[in-house]
Amino acid sequence: MVPVIALVGRPNVGKSTLFNRLTKTRNAIVAEYAGLTRDRQYGEAKWQGRTYIVIDTGGISGDEEGIDAKMAEQSLQAIEEADAVLFMVDSRAGMTASDQMIAEHLRKRNKRSFLVANKVDTVDPDLARAEFSPLGLGDALPIAAAHGRGITGMLQAALGEFPRDDAADEEEAAQAEEVAEGEEAKRIPGPSEKDGIKIAIIGRPNVGKSTLVNRMLGEERVIVYDQAGTTRDSIYIPFERNEEKYTLIDTAGVRRRGKIFEAVEKFSVVKTLQAIQDANVVIFVMDAREGVVEHDLNLLGFVLETGRALVIALNKWDGMEPSERDYVKTELERRLFFVDFADIHFISALHGTGVGHLYKSVQESFRSAITRWPTSRLTQILEDAVQEHQPPLVNGRRIKLRYAHLGGANPPLIVIHGNQTESVPKSYSRYLENTYRRVLKLVGTPIRIEYKGGE
Ligand code: GDP
Ligand code: GDP
Repeated sequence: MVPVIALVGRPNVGKSTLFNRLTKTRNAIVAEYAGLTRDRQYGEAKWQGRTYIVIDTGGISGDEEGIDAKMAEQSLQAIEEADAVLFMVDSRAGMTASDQMIAEHLRKRNKRSFLVANKVDTVDPDLARAEFSPLGLGDALPIAAAHGRGITGMLQAALGEFPRDDAADEEEAAQAEEVAEGEEAKRIPGPSEKDGIKIAIIGRPNVGKSTLVNRMLGEERVIVYDQAGTTRDSIYIPFERNEEKYTLIDTAGVRRRGKIFEAVEKFSVVKTLQAIQDANVVIFVMDAREGVVEHDLNLLGFVLETGRALVIALNKWDGMEPSERDYVKTELERRLFFVDFADIHFISALHGTGVGHLYKSVQESFRSAITRWPTSRLTQILEDAVQEHQPPLVNGRRIKLRYAHLGGANPPLIVIHGNQTESVPKSYSRYLENTYRRVLKLVGTPIRIEYKGGE
């Protein structure tokens, strides 16, 4: 499971600044679910081979009435769900009553917390340490988020103990490179294929995730279904269908009681993000009656960033007027262009309509995501593409692209070697990506292209 780090502190201590630095605002997703005092940001970040999720929990002002009243429910939930808390204080402003209140809360909750003294560009770091030692959370880690100082030391403390990303990933990548020259394209099962395809059912509250999970499981024979889940953990449900193995990652918290499944959990962004990270394929559920809303786009952006294979399910398609349906379809085309590689299904989880068809897309996108393509094949496609459209001249010299090999799977990573590769325009990369997608018939998965060799 990817570790989760929460940034906590009163307003203006520099949480957003640190958040942006850690995530490079690459894929910050802003969640505005009911009950939040201000937009909460979630992002994926990487440090020394470790992927982690970082949450900016928003400001805790902690005035007179006690902390619980001041912290939005989601904010508290984020602290509860975090593996570690970075508690930020402002060295320039010095210690305040709010800081003491937050420290007290973290101590009470017995949270793995690190005291982070920000803005040490304005004061002596030693003074900052002394200033905040009464908080009783140990020596403050001095940083200047705005200038990138002290970040490595801070991350070492907070993340050093977590294992690096799946060693299996590296193994897979190595294996991918080993596919010999001249070999036919072939399918080497990835490690996850043995356990079946891991499918995460993702979506905003009330779009119909639990109904869909029930529907999918109700139809099939559930082999094992007995896992204690906490608020934070999704439930993993292995099952078989037409002799194919799957594991459903259920974020909606469906529980079996007797023979009925019922939803008992409330929505958790952290759980959602972790499930996406852990899945091979995401079934992204939207409510056709509400159309495409901002939160959907935020979550989809995160799915895209992680590179997971994607199938979109427009739920509650039952009982909609033809004119409404047309409107939704136009909306989809207009707003979901950035995930246009994904199949879209119009379903009714309630009545079961269209649910069976999801499996075909799940399987195709999974195969697309994990197939190993030999170097010879990828290079041939590159050569043909270059012949059809030359890359542009840079300073009077033509960019040279020599060969390509597979650097990873789920999502497929195509590594292209050549000269002046740092000058390849975005439009040309898109052209190559589209060519690979078309020739290799890749559906339902993003493709990553990476260049090696500059000058
Ligand atoms: P948040 O409310 O905790 O998210 O705080 P922000 O990230 O919005 O920062 C509040 C203010 O502190 C902004 O004006 C930042 O530019 C400033 N700030 C953040 N980090 C630093 C730092 O390392 N040094 C200094 N001098 N100012 C900083
Ligand atoms: P979740 O919060 O995403 O797990 O959503 P639920 O599965 O709890 O569904 C929320 C509400 O939408 C419930 O009242 C469901 O009965 C209803 N619902 C779910 N799927 C459908 C559907 O396909 N059609 C209609 N009309 N209602 C649905």
